[in-house]
Amino acid sequence: MEKDYEEMFTGEVATAFRKESEPLSDACQTCKYVSLCRGGCKRYKQLAPTTSQKQFVYCESYYTFFEKNVAAMFELAQQVRRGIG
Ligand code: SF4
Repeated sequence: MEKDYEEMFTGEVATAFRKESEPLSDACQTCKYVSLCRGGCKRYKQLAPTTSQKQFVYCESYYTFFEKNVAAMFELAQQVRRGIG
């Protein structure tokens, strides 16, 4: 039996996968890009020596990427929603 997208995103396996990335660090919880980044890939997190919290090792690169490209990303998303491509 095939699973629909709703089940893929809300099902037991997906929920367990997301839970493995919790808790987000204090830095991620207050980051303006957390809804896009979600704290980064759990495979690339390591304990930060000063906070003893897990932090995404590519955080600075991702943050810089979002700073430079988030406006274009939202514009592209709007175009897709409007059916303009
Ligand atoms: S950019 Fe950095 S601080 Fe922001 S959510 Fe991603 S990993 Fe966390």
